[in-house]
Amino acid sequence: MRILLVEDDLMLGQTLQRALEPQGYTVDWLRDGSQALQAILDQHIDLIILDLGLPKIDGMSVLKQARLKGIQTPVLILTARDTTQDKVQGLDAGADDYLLKPFDLAELYARIRALTRRANGRAESQICYGDLRLEPQNQRIFYQDKEISLHRREFMVLHELLENVGKVLTRQKLEQSLYGWGEDIESNALEVHIHHLRKKLYPELIKTVRGIGYIIEKHK
Ligand code: CA
Repeated sequence: MRILLVEDDLMLGQTLQRALEPQGYTVDWLRDGSQALQAILDQHIDLIILDLGLPKIDGMSVLKQARLKGIQTPVLILTARDTTQDKVQGLDAGADDYLLKPFDLAELYARIRALTRRANGRAESQICYGDLRLEPQNQRIFYQDKEISLHRREFMVLHELLENVGKVLTRQKLEQSLYGWGEDIESNALEVHIHHLRKKLYPELIKTVRGIGYIIEKHK
C-alpha cells in the first residue's frame, strides 16, 4: 500500500516515514502543497496523510482541489489546529479523518488501518481467504492456523492481492505499492516475491494473468 505523506516539518516527516515503512507501507514524502497536488492528480496513491499548514498551497486547498478533480483517495488530516471549526471545515472539504498533533503513533497506525478497511469495504480487521488469515495490525499471516514467515515485501504483495480478491492487479500497480519514488526496482523483483509466496503458501493461490499482472480469484 502506497501512502503519500505531505508534511513540511522535517523532523516530523522523517519520523513518520521511518515509522510507517516497517508497518508495511510504501511512503512517499513531499513537503509542499503544490508538489503534493501534482502527485495526487498524477500518481496511484492509496492513502494521503496531509498537514494543513504547508508552503505554496495550504493543505485545505490541496484537499478541496483534489476532491473537485474527482480524486477519492482517503485523506487523513494531521494538524495542530484544534478548534471545532477547523475540524468541521476539514471534514466538509472531503477529509476522511482528523488527527491532532501531537499524537501517538499507535493511534495513527490504527486510524490508517481503519481508513484502509473502509476504503476496501471491509468491517473486519482481519482478512480471511479460505484457510488463509492476514492480520494487518501486526503484519502476520496464518495458513491453516500455522504462522507463515514472510519478508516485508512478500507480505505487502500478498496484502495488496488479498485486499483486491477477484481483481487483476497490474504489474505496475503492484510495483507502485511496493516501491517509493526513486527506489530501484529490479526488473524481476515482483516475480521473485510471487514465486516465494506460492512456495510458502500454496502454488494455486496467486494466478498469473499473462502480460498483465496477478490475481487471487474469488472462491467459487
Ligand atoms: Ca506544517
